[in-house]
Amino acid sequence: MRCLILSDIHANLYALEAVMADAKGRYDSLLCLGDIVGYGAEPNQVTEAIRESRAVVIRGNHDRACTGDPTIESFTELAYEAARWTLDHLKSDNLEFLKALPAGPMAVDGFHIAHGSPRDEDEYVFSRDEAAEQYSSMPHDLCFIGHTHLQGGFGLRRGRTWELERPGDHEAEVSHRLEPDTSYLINPGSVGQPRDLDPRAGYAVYDTDSRQVTFRRVTYKVAMEQRKIIAAGLPMFLAARLALGR
Ligand code: ZN
Repeated sequence: MRCLILSDIHANLYALEAVMADAKGRYDSLLCLGDIVGYGAEPNQVTEAIRESRAVVIRGNHDRACTGDPTIESFTELAYEAARWTLDHLKSDNLEFLKALPAGPMAVDGFHIAHGSPRDEDEYVFSRDEAAEQYSSMPHDLCFIGHTHLQGGFGLRRGRTWELERPGDHEAEVSHRLEPDTSYLINPGSVGQPRDLDPRAGYAVYDTDSRQVTFRRVTYKVAMEQRKIIAAGLPMFLAARLALGR
């Protein structure tokens, strides 16, 4: 089974369309690790695309905040403004879909998915030290996570942790064969708002038979998305950051 794994789409329709076109024929099932909305200008079309895809989906912190959860009060000014805008623009059926999303971690076909970390859906795993702390609370030796918008992840074996490489600036993909007796926290990257200094949309495919994870990067119409964000009256920085990948 080849699983297409998407995370942090953030209402960026151009990025999602580019990823789905690139991933065509490469997968059998679709998983989404949350943050479908928030920041971008197309929350309804992106939510509808995910609903129609029949993906297995867990919620992200922005999906909660954008549907009226009180955690919106803990957001930064920028994220708060975007979440309020999204709440004002979501159609009721999309709002209900997002509200009903389950929290991670969730077991899927021999591994787990979570938005933030295996022990806390809102926790960020940025570093090797932070990954090592997760070791004891991992429900399985493989968990896909999102939230940081950084493609890559960590291998953990006998107290040692290391980072998994993502594609370089001129590469479309990098694959990793998962090793036995090793735990992994793997981030497919962000579809709609990458923050690893590569503005291309990121995603991953995991082949459960060969135990191979492939990270891919895809160019999309960044300038078009920026125009939409500005036309929607969302903060300018949310448009600017897309070109920088940060
Ligand atoms: Zn996010």
